[in-house]
Amino acid sequence: MKKSIFLCSICNISSGSCAEDCGFCTQSAHHHADIERYKYKPVDQIVFEAKSAASNGALGFCLVTSGLGLDDKKLAFVTEAARAVRSVLPEIHLIACNGMANVEQLRALKEAGVNSYNHNLESSQAFYKTICTTHTWESRYETCLHVKESGLFLCSGGIFGLGESKEDRASFIESVKSLNPETMPLNFYIQNPALPLKANPLSEAEALEIITQVRAALPNTRLMVAGGREITFVSPNCDIFAAGADAIVIGDYLTTKGELPKKDREMITRLGYDIASSCHA
Ligand code: SF4
Repeated sequence: MKKSIFLCSICNISSGSCAEDCGFCTQSAHHHADIERYKYKPVDQIVFEAKSAASNGALGFCLVTSGLGLDDKKLAFVTEAARAVRSVLPEIHLIACNGMANVEQLRALKEAGVNSYNHNLESSQAFYKTICTTHTWESRYETCLHVKESGLFLCSGGIFGLGESKEDRASFIESVKSLNPETMPLNFYIQNPALPLKANPLSEAEALEIITQVRAALPNTRLMVAGGREITFVSPNCDIFAAGADAIVIGDYLTTKGELPKKDREMITRLGYDIASSCHA
C-alpha cells in the first residue's frame, strides 16, 4: 500500500508585534523584520482561506496568533474564527496555535470545534536559553501538558538549524517523545537579515538525516515538514517521505511564501505517494 501524505495549511490570523524575543522569529517586535502586521484578520477572510486550503487538498487548517499566549480577547477571537470555519467545513481537522494556554482556555477552544493544539518546544531545554530570554522552555513544556489534560490532540515540534549541537537535537527529540504528540512539525530555519541568529544553513543531507532520526524516535507520530522545506530540500528527487515524513504544510507560511499547492501535489504523486483523503487524528 502506498504511503499517504497528510496536507495541512496554516493561517496567520494575528501577525507580528510580539513582545517575546525568540531569535528565529520575524514576528518578534525586537527584531523589526519587514513583515505584514495586523491585530486580527477578518473572520470572513479566515473562512475564505480555510475553504481555499481544503479545495487544495488540505485536511488540516491551523489558526495561528503571534504573542506569548491567550488572553480573554484573543481567546474570544480564536473561538469565533474556529466556529466560523467549523460551520462551513465540518470535516476539517482544526488546529489552534496561540502560545501559552491553560487547561480552561484549551477546553474553550475544544468546545469551539478545535481538534488539536500546536505548541512547539522549539529546541532542547539547554539550547532554548540561548535563543529566547523572555520566557522559558519549561513554560512551553507545561502548556504541552495542559493540551494533553484538556483532551485536545497535541501537535508539538520545533525548528532545526539554529546552531544547535547534535546533543541538543537528541535531547530535544527525547523531550518531544516524552510528550507523545499526535503530530510533530519539523521546521528548518530560514535566515532573515533582521534576525539575530546567524547559524549556517543545514545541508539537505543533514536535514534528511534529522527527519530519519526523528522518525526512529517517534514511530507513530505524524511528522510534518513545515517552514524551510522549500529552501532546504532542493534536489529534484529529494524524498522527505522516504526519510520518514508523512505530512507537509502547503501554501504560505506565517511570514514567508510557500510553494504552490498544485506543485506540491504533483511532487507527492511523482515520488510515488498518495495524498491523504481522511485524517485519523
Ligand atoms: S515564536 Fe511566538 S512567542 Fe516567539 S517571537 Fe514568535 S510569535 Fe512571539
